[in-house]
Amino acid sequence: MRLSVTTRAAARAGVVAGSALSLVAGVGLTTALAAPGGPDARRAQLHVRGTVERLHLDDFSAPTTAGDDEITYVRTSGGLVQVPASDLAQVPTGASVDVGLASAAGTTTTSAGALTSDLAGAANHDPEAGVDVASVAVTPTAAGTVATGQGVAAASTAVAAGAAAHSVTVVVVKPPGGTTPSASVSTVVSTVANGVNAYWSSMTRGAVTFTATGWPSIVSTSNVPCTMTNGSVSVSSTGAFWSEVESTVHFTPGSGKHLVVYFAGFAPCGGIAGLGTVGSGIASGGVVWINGYNTVGVIGHELGHNIGLGHSQELDCTASGVRVMDAAPASCSVRNYWDTNDIMALSWNNEGYLNASHLRYLGLLNGTDQVAPSDNGVVTLTPLETPGGLRVLTLSDGATRYVVEFRRPIGADSWLTSYPGWGSDGVTVRKEIDPTAQGSTYSSDESYLLDGNPATPDTSLGYGVTSLPVNVWIDLAGGRLGLRITSETAGGAVVEYRNGLPGTDPRYTPPARPTVSTPQGALVAGSMKVTTSAAYVPLRWTYDVSTPSAIEGAAPTMATRTATLTSKAGNGVFSTIVFRGSAAASDGTLVSARAIVLTRYLGETTSKLNASWSRRGWITAKVAGAMGGRTRLTATKGSAVVFTVAGQGFGLVLGHGAKYGRVAVYVDGHYVRTLSLRARHTAVSVAWTRMFGSYGKHTVRLVNVTGGSHGTFAFDGVVTLT
Ligand SMILES: [Zn+2]
Repeated sequence: MRLSVTTRAAARAGVVAGSALSLVAGVGLTTALAAPGGPDARRAQLHVRGTVERLHLDDFSAPTTAGDDEITYVRTSGGLVQVPASDLAQVPTGASVDVGLASAAGTTTTSAGALTSDLAGAANHDPEAGVDVASVAVTPTAAGTVATGQGVAAASTAVAAGAAAHSVTVVVVKPPGGTTPSASVSTVVSTVANGVNAYWSSMTRGAVTFTATGWPSIVSTSNVPCTMTNGSVSVSSTGAFWSEVESTVHFTPGSGKHLVVYFAGFAPCGGIAGLGTVGSGIASGGVVWINGYNTVGVIGHELGHNIGLGHSQELDCTASGVRVMDAAPASCSVRNYWDTNDIMALSWNNEGYLNASHLRYLGLLNGTDQVAPSDNGVVTLTPLETPGGLRVLTLSDGATRYVVEFRRPIGADSWLTSYPGWGSDGVTVRKEIDPTAQGSTYSSDESYLLDGNPATPDTSLGYGVTSLPVNVWIDLAGGRLGLRITSETAGGAVVEYRNGLPGTDPRYTPPARPTVSTPQGALVAGSMKVTTSAAYVPLRWTYDVSTPSAIEGAAPTMATRTATLTSKAGNGVFSTIVFRGSAAASDGTLVSARAIVLTRYLGETTSKLNASWSRRGWITAKVAGAMGGRTRLTATKGSAVVFTVAGQGFGLVLGHGAKYGRVAVYVDGHYVRTLSLRARHTAVSVAWTRMFGSYGKHTVRLVNVTGGSHGTFAFDGVVTLT
């Protein structure tokens, strides 16, 4: 079967897949004909053929926030051609492809006549770098074969069945410019054969085991794994480093065959802890390098990539600007590595139990482990860490699945009690998003944890609270599915589930909703910008959210939320500003309250201010940032302006700068305060505001109390809020 995919670049270039005029001449470079029909036709002339390969790089010093750390390339007979990850996002690893390139830019021709990448160094750390793809024809791999990180090998059925161990060749190398590793070959072999093997053997119930053999001597290479240019790290995308090590130690890629290359912390690799090729499944092989970390967490993680796993991610979903547990894929983004429950996140020293979504991807959930009902019912999930019972509940919404598991701080997860926020004690849900959905950027080899407590901000990695609350119905898939945990004990979690809208289940009671008070808007001091038609000024909104407790009878949580937004204030005319304060119920239902205010900017010359100026010293002059570029100013001590404003509040728009002095403010005849307008740079801002709480008219008097060479006072106008 061959299928054609129109890629991102093709859509951009207006190229229709399959329209390329070309001759495909064997593997590698194809001979292009001079095509008539303009630039679009010419873009699709160059073809490469090979297998789609991917590698994950793990930068612990600067983990990408958006999960975009998987580099994609096509392995051709002439070498590797990196392509933007999104261009082949829906093509499986290991698939044979015929890729039409959008242009020759980024490629070079080898002496054998094939194309390889010729990318700027820094581009190699960027998954969206590479040669743009105009079209791709995919030939899926034959049944029974697996990706090895270097092409496709026939699977070893013994490895696939868990009857034979994955064999790991450990090589300690010293790249040029690197230091001699302090970890010996035998200690790295020991890490793989003991800790790494113990982890994977336990998680997979013996389906994946590792044996390790060390290459006896340290290999000094002439190629480097990484380069650093101006602080930017790029990993080798030519494959030369791998090829050199492989030929030195006579490593042959194959099913269940892995090469672990260990070197002492190599400065040009920056914070990258390790890197591994991505396999197509449990019988895959692959290559890995490790930048100084002789640990189960890092080596075991990279070998996890080799057997087909991506990362353990968290989904960060919002609706109307409020975080919710579940939303359509387009309303969610990925928090890379944030599902810290297992080895496929940043595992540090706590390699928790492999999550149920990863277990399913590896084909390790059997009929006893899981249930996937389509009715309304109840199950008791035994802890994930105790194989033998029912551990996984899966609910489906079309091709999207919700995978429910229950974790306790026992066995491989006993560290959970010591690291609250790092791992989830309780019931969690992972979403398996249909990767073939149009426009999906989600990958089936990664797992996506939903945040069961979206109201907690989870502002940094390792401080997440993602377990579901007890005794609350949680809606998923827009309400088409639902869950309620009724109890959690050491023996199991009782989970009521619903396949259908809430009305189909008599057990359903809507979760208590938060209440949101009407937002109050206020002018606040701060920088502003002006156009001829309006000033844009800071407006702060304040509202209270009362969230009922999930525990019956307990007091609600009260919180005051604020948002400061830049809002329009029309020049001489009212602008309508609408603000909606929102909060989410535990099932994601949004509750909001709306407020409307009118804002207006009145310049110093408008008759609406009814301004009167004291007779001394006022001139009209240029002031940076003032409406119209000019405003009235004075450097005479005692000079004043008096004007009237109407509204619930107002803000003074005044100049400030190095030669500006102090100004006394009087409202309705009473002295209020003195403002210092001294600042390094000259500009106009909202210098001071006063809110009254109700509508009224007020008289304002401003007096220059400094004067002289450092006593400038510039009055550009007022903003009002009604
Ligand atoms: Zn990784």
